[in-house]
Amino acid sequence: MKSYYFSEEHELFRQSLKDFFKKEVHPYIDEWEAEQRIPRSIWERMGEMGYLGLNYPESYGGLNLDFFYSVVFTEELAKTWSGGFSAALSVQQFMSSTYIFKYGSEELKQKYVVPAIQGKCICSIGITEPGAGSDVANIKTTATLQGDHYLINGSKTFITNGVYGDVIILVCKTDPSKGINGVSLIAVDRNAEGVTANKLKKLGWHASDTAELGFDNVKVPAGNLIGEEGMGFIYLMNGLQLERLIGAVLGIGGIDAALEYTLKYMSERSAFGRPINRFQVLRHRIAQLTAEIESTRYYVYHVCKMHNDDQYAVKESSISKLLASELADKSAYQLLQMFGGYGYMEEYKMARFFRDSRIGTIGGGTSEIMREIIAKMVIDDKAYEGAFGNDELKAIELPTAKEIILNLNNRFKEDRALDYEGIFQFDISGDNGGQFTVEIDKGKLKVSEGMNGEALCLVETEDHVYQGVETGSINPQQALMTGQIKVSDLAAMMKFGTFFKRYKQN
Ligand SMILES: Cc1cc2nc3c(=O)[nH]c(=O)nc-3n(C[C@H](O)[C@H](O)[C@H](O)COP(=O)(O)OP(=O)(O)OC[C@H]3O[C@@H](n4cnc5c(N)ncnc54)[C@H](O)[C@@H]3O)c2cc1C
Repeated sequence: MKSYYFSEEHELFRQSLKDFFKKEVHPYIDEWEAEQRIPRSIWERMGEMGYLGLNYPESYGGLNLDFFYSVVFTEELAKTWSGGFSAALSVQQFMSSTYIFKYGSEELKQKYVVPAIQGKCICSIGITEPGAGSDVANIKTTATLQGDHYLINGSKTFITNGVYGDVIILVCKTDPSKGINGVSLIAVDRNAEGVTANKLKKLGWHASDTAELGFDNVKVPAGNLIGEEGMGFIYLMNGLQLERLIGAVLGIGGIDAALEYTLKYMSERSAFGRPINRFQVLRHRIAQLTAEIESTRYYVYHVCKMHNDDQYAVKESSISKLLASELADKSAYQLLQMFGGYGYMEEYKMARFFRDSRIGTIGGGTSEIMREIIAKMVIDDKAYEGAFGNDELKAIELPTAKEIILNLNNRFKEDRALDYEGIFQFDISGDNGGQFTVEIDKGKLKVSEGMNGEALCLVETEDHVYQGVETGSINPQQALMTGQIKVSDLAAMMKFGTFFKRYKQN
């Protein structure tokens, strides 16, 4: 069947990747699973082949390819029948080094991203703590600036590549009094003095090392801060969309391998004088799973296309991760059944697939958290993205920034603000801007011109940026990151957003 997403070049790349895995990975997977360790040599081989820098620019040693090469890579990775190997490699390329590449200084990129692409620097992302997993905002690890360095104290847990890796992209609080406004990302060398690692024993993902990390007065150069202090939470929320999408693609790739393996077994195994693939009850189960796999696959590909086209797709990435990881789990359960007792034996690959797929609905945001995000967007009208695409925007005449802000009353959700009090001031430069005060007082909204009262939060921006963010042509998080909008209290501003319906053209 003609593919709408993969070109001939993508498929040639797939074939060469399959050949590589067949020769240099498949023969050793069992050994790596048993030893619970992936040798450095395979990281470096994959670096030499260019597999670790697919979307990175050539100036850093990457291949500068489109996102569908990463989709091919991730699918084939998932077919190596080692969730641990797949996890280690995808954390490296899509979930950790990415933060330094997107927000870090040139010095940090040269120090960590270039060797990461070569497979010489193994990266990890340290978000989860013993007391804070889903509730990321509640992390306790601190980094205190003392002259030319940070002093880091705290602990992390479940960190992939945290035992044998080289650098941790550490999520910590540089100012704990500011809540999410005090979260920052810092690159911490794994072998820095004061960093300790304990290797955790797990149900599955045996080839990958998962660490509990301790940080005891760890001294890190101030220059290892990634991007700006206090922006870590926003960087993370942005990066998690890719992590979730990659999680979905891993799910699809794993199911594909498991289904192919199962179909072969069903054609070879006989019972009651015929191959088991002749029993209608089993045929229908395969047919049902196939229907679910195909529909999930094409939804996930669609979201990959959105990502490739730089669209900020929070709801869609969350749906992809939710559906694909739940389906991988269900497929593992149902397909193993087709093998009878052999499915329970280690010499058959299904046993490992069954163990490994279980983590899909937990890591990188649990299914419950995915449903929370989706529910907030569809029920509470929470906006992580614009109301309109750029093409639609071109066709309509939009109200000015001033008109939008003076009409906020029309979008106010008073029932959501019954217990809330706060004054927000907007300083919007440009011909269509001005100074405005928006006061929320227990379910009542008052918008006035000028800077009135004592502000809980001050927002500074330009008229076209405010208009773009409100009407959907500008991604608010990107506007914050690039300094197009300055907000004195990010948490208050995020709360403010929940009191208004999304802008819609009449
Ligand atoms: C093998 C493995 C590798 C991992 N790799 C990494 C890594 O490299 N880096 C990293 O930072 N983390 C990593 N993690 C951590 C992973 O992302 C967390 O385990 C996950 O986010 C859940 O956090 P938690 O375990 O603290 O569970 P909790 O947050 O304590 O959740 C417990 C249960 O409560 C539910 N729950 C929590 N909040 C809500 C809510 N608001 N509504 C409804 N239900 C809720 C959860 O869905 C879950 O079912 C890894 C985990 C594992 C097991």
